[in-house]
Amino acid sequence: MKVLVTGGAGYIGSHTVVLLIEAGHEVVVFDNFCNASKESIRRVEKIVNQKITVVEGDIRSREELQKVFDVHTIDAVIHFAGLKAVGESVEKPFIYYDNNVHGSTVLFEVMAKNACKSIIFSSSATVYGDPHTTPILENFPTSATNPYGRSKLMVEEILRDVYVSDSEWKIVLLRYFNPVGAHKSGTIGEDPNGIPNNLMPFIAQTAVGKREYLSVFGDDYDTPDGTGVRDYIHVVDLADAHVKAVEKISNFNEVMTINLGTGKGYSVLEMVKAFEKASGRRVPYKIAPRRAGDIATCFADPSYAKEILGWVATRGVDEMCEDGWRWQMSNPMGYKS
Ligand code: NAD
Ligand code: UDP
Repeated sequence: MKVLVTGGAGYIGSHTVVLLIEAGHEVVVFDNFCNASKESIRRVEKIVNQKITVVEGDIRSREELQKVFDVHTIDAVIHFAGLKAVGESVEKPFIYYDNNVHGSTVLFEVMAKNACKSIIFSSSATVYGDPHTTPILENFPTSATNPYGRSKLMVEEILRDVYVSDSEWKIVLLRYFNPVGAHKSGTIGEDPNGIPNNLMPFIAQTAVGKREYLSVFGDDYDTPDGTGVRDYIHVVDLADAHVKAVEKISNFNEVMTINLGTGKGYSVLEMVKAFEKASGRRVPYKIAPRRAGDIATCFADPSYAKEILGWVATRGVDEMCEDGWRWQMSNPMGYKS
């Protein structure tokens, strides 16, 4: 298949591009590089040993998107492009709604105009808000506590409306839990701008000596050791689920909503320990106050993904930490290294 990957230069996108090409698909990357480096594309080209077709453009531009469809016959779109920093979204809601919601509607409109009606959308476990119980099933109630999460919910709803208007659309909403780790080569990985908001890049930067210590946000949650529990999923497992979704998309006759997680939860302190074991380095930490908006526990019931996509996550926490560490060690300054 010929797959348009918006945001294909980013963290999850670059890993997905590798697996798509390895599975024999053709890929066109569309990215405005607002949160990615062109170096990530060069590294992907090295891994797959072929040139990648890249179009530099913004999903908010009809003209830039149309140019892609003028030249390529696209079978399906995997839509990663978007902004993802929760704190920033609270400070700058307009930018988030413009980029994530408006940008997505422009993309869907251009797709429809070009009779390309298959889309896989990057949603997030954040749409479950504070779940009443775990593991989390796809039919749990949804809610949002910040503009980032709300932008994901809005795009999910927009896509459901798109399907109501035209049932020829094939739509898959993938709700990711906590993607971590990196490609085995250690040449592509997560490259956050400035101080990382997420746990794993912060731990990795602390282990490599770039940060003095990790602040553990709260040790008084109702969890086994008091620290927050999340479902960490290896980015290559996540990428693999996209390949499976794209290959099965023509079979779907309703909007598919699918959790992508391992089904297991790990606490902050368990992740610190796992990373120390993988890296052989100490990760100093201090207990800090809870972070506003955080929940105690979040992990998936991934059985629907198994049933529908024939997909299960196969990489455990040790492998996530080993691969994340290899990327961090080889690239202490990310793609600038
Ligand atoms: P990322 O920032 O590494 O990748 C996003 C890519 O989109 C970047 O390459 C960026 O340059 C590009 N982009 C952003 N706005 C664009 C625009 N208007 N036009 C064209 N390109 C644009 O993020 P990621 O971690 O790879 O996440 C990919 C998707 O998955 C995002 O939609 C994100 O919200 C979602 N998601 C991520 C996580 C996570 O923890 N990483 C969890 C759940 C969902
Ligand atoms: N966390 C932490 N210190 C940090 C970053 C995160 O203790 O510097 C905790 C956070 O409170 C949560 C877990 O690590 O319990 C995962 O946080 P992350 O931001 O990576 O993911 P999310 O909260 O979005 O699931």
